[in-house]
Amino acid sequence: MVESRKEALGWKAPQKACEDRKCPFHGELLVKNELFQGVVIKKDSNRSATLEWNRSKYVPKYERYTLLRSRLRVHNPACVNAQIGEEVVAARTKPLSKTKHHVIIGRAEGGKA
Ligand SMILES: [Zn+2]
Repeated sequence: MVESRKEALGWKAPQKACEDRKCPFHGELLVKNELFQGVVIKKDSNRSATLEWNRSKYVPKYERYTLLRSRLRVHNPACVNAQIGEEVVAARTKPLSKTKHHVIIGRAEGGKA
């Protein structure tokens, strides 16, 4: 049994514990300080989620900004259990599956973003 951590990168562990090995608080997962903030647009039953966020990029030729959309597949630990529409923060970690290399460490509001 691995000792559970109280926080990861300053983010407090959720009240609820979980048995997930791929959890930054209750598992063996170590996270890197490379954060992404986005809205959960898709939630899968296998503890996966998809984040999406918009950013604008300047296009010199047209002297205007274009809107870019970025998406990221992330792991959604059972103790965090982010729902669709919530603003969350994900941190980079080791590859968790073929498409997932990040894990949700908390919700954006209330904590530091
Ligand atoms: Zn957990």
